[in-house]
Amino acid sequence: MTSVVERLQGQSPKFSVEFLPPRDAEDEKILWKAVRELEGLDPAFVSITYGAGGSRRDRTIRATGRIAQETTLLPVAHLTAVDHSVAELRNVIGWYAAIGVRNVLALRGDPPGDPMGEWVAHPEGLNYADELVSLVRELGDFCVGVAAFPYGHPRSNDLDTDLKFLLRKLNAGADYAVAQLFHEPEPFLRMRDRVAAAGCSAAMLPGIMPMLSARGLSKIVELSGADLPVEISRRLEPYADDAAGFRATGIDIATEMCQKLLDEGVPALHFYTMNRAKATREVLGRLGLVARA
Ligand SMILES: Cc1cc2nc3c(=O)[nH]c(=O)nc-3n(C[C@H](O)[C@H](O)[C@H](O)COP(=O)(O)OP(=O)(O)OC[C@H]3O[C@@H](n4cnc5c(N)ncnc54)[C@H](O)[C@@H]3O)c2cc1C
Repeated sequence: MTSVVERLQGQSPKFSVEFLPPRDAEDEKILWKAVRELEGLDPAFVSITYGAGGSRRDRTIRATGRIAQETTLLPVAHLTAVDHSVAELRNVIGWYAAIGVRNVLALRGDPPGDPMGEWVAHPEGLNYADELVSLVRELGDFCVGVAAFPYGHPRSNDLDTDLKFLLRKLNAGADYAVAQLFHEPEPFLRMRDRVAAAGCSAAMLPGIMPMLSARGLSKIVELSGADLPVEISRRLEPYADDAAGFRATGIDIATEMCQKLLDEGVPALHFYTMNRAKATREVLGRLGLVARA
């Protein structure tokens, strides 16, 4: 199986997409509709988030396996250290290897129940993502990615400390990093440039999620960890009660940011799809990266 790094090679800009594990049968249908629609657009890879626990984790593993075996897509399996002993992590990684999944996004994960709660490692588990990067590397020929936070991880005291830990996990053997959501190109580009200035050649991929509704906006702001810039609020404000206008403006804003990022030479755009293909397709079409629908 090819690696993410191989898929990112070449001059032409690429894109990748992220899916969530389905919660039930209905969700599964929605996911597979998006998988099939996006498969035709030839993303560099598709990543599937790792559930917070129990059955959602099984569904992550099942969906990743199905994508590996039933599609032409390159799956990246997310894996977190939450509530796992090292022996269990080894098992999951071994299972991925057995079905030919060779690309893993290694994450620490959040404390179950309260993402901002105190992190407590499993007594026989790992503390931070850099340890998981080392474990995955140790277990075979995997291409490994990590998470990066343009505004700093919510639990980090400052950007310098955050960069130090990002570099630590990249230097532990990660090949690339995927960024959390952000609202303007600059924080991401500054982080990318600081990683490069530190002598690290890992690819840095921006994470993109178009603002499609007033309701979805608060989740985007919460995930990013930063308030919306005034200029973006001003553009969206007139559409608080106009769903179509809000969506169209959100797509405009995402397209403009993606264009700036491409102009700055990012190797790929990573779309958080929420298991829907339409918005990703629209932005890619407007950028000229795929045929317009
Ligand atoms: C692209 C992306 C994908 C994601 N996918 C998932 C998913 O599938 N499932 C899921 O549950 N969550 C997912 N998350 C959320 C992620 O798990 C949380 O944000 C988590 O809190 C941080 O994970 P991390 O891998 O960045 O942790 P780490 O890199 O371990 O960092 C966690 C915190 O500890 C600090 N730190 C790191 N190393 C050290 C050290 N050695 N000593 C002291 N402090 C340290 C960091 O600065 C940071 O504040 C994702 C996030 C992103 C950006």
